[in-house]
Amino acid sequence: MRTALIAGNWKMNGSLALVERFAQAFVETRLPAGVEVALMVPSPYLDAARGAFGGTPVATGAQTLHPESNGAFTGEVSGAMLAELGARYVLVGHSERRSLFHEDDAAVLARVKAALVADLTPVLCVGESLEEREADRTEAVVLGQVTAVLDALEPAERERLVIAYEPVWAIGTGKTATPEQAQAVHAVIRSRLREYDATLAEGMRLLYGGSMKAANAAELLVQPDIDGGLVGGASLKVDDFLAICQSAG
Ligand code: 13P
Repeated sequence: MRTALIAGNWKMNGSLALVERFAQAFVETRLPAGVEVALMVPSPYLDAARGAFGGTPVATGAQTLHPESNGAFTGEVSGAMLAELGARYVLVGHSERRSLFHEDDAAVLARVKAALVADLTPVLCVGESLEEREADRTEAVVLGQVTAVLDALEPAERERLVIAYEPVWAIGTGKTATPEQAQAVHAVIRSRLREYDATLAEGMRLLYGGSMKAANAAELLVQPDIDGGLVGGASLKVDDFLAICQSAG
């Protein structure tokens, strides 16, 4: 069985004080058995987060990385640097990176490979825009983003990924995909994974992201192919995020 993963993506939000507040809450709260939790904090907070979450089951992660391991790339951060600060996960291909920072499938693939080299677990984010959904292109877009990466990896590398389906129209809009809409896309992704390998398909965790909150998490997480959540706005509020973690149990 797949272990549920609830991951918070703070985006460019938060503070050292918020890291402390979350750590305190996770010291005081018991997570349901069989639920893993990760917080993708802004990179400058990783070191503090490693210390603060040390005594808790919460893993930390980053939100992006540069494909190269070092060099003259002013302002960029490598996978090795993130790993040195205790990051276990890194988001790759988030829709904000794809649209605001022009990361195409080749750029996403390069970052996935860099994450694997640095021993980080890449969380590959995929999802269609509203326009693409309305043009009936959801499957083509999502599977295109998935296969652009998986086709270029070795079988043993594929197994190290987590995939997050985040419909762009649901991100930060308050418009969550219905459980049926989300499940349908997750099932399509999983059946595509079966074409690579049945064991890969059964083992890979597929997270849903897009306006997930305490009020809708349970009905999403109960779907057979939804193995967790990638939570944006609600991961900045301790009570909301804890409630989502509880509903994954
Ligand atoms: P919201 O939960 O704020 O819609 O953000 C989702 C997201 O982009 C997580 O990566």
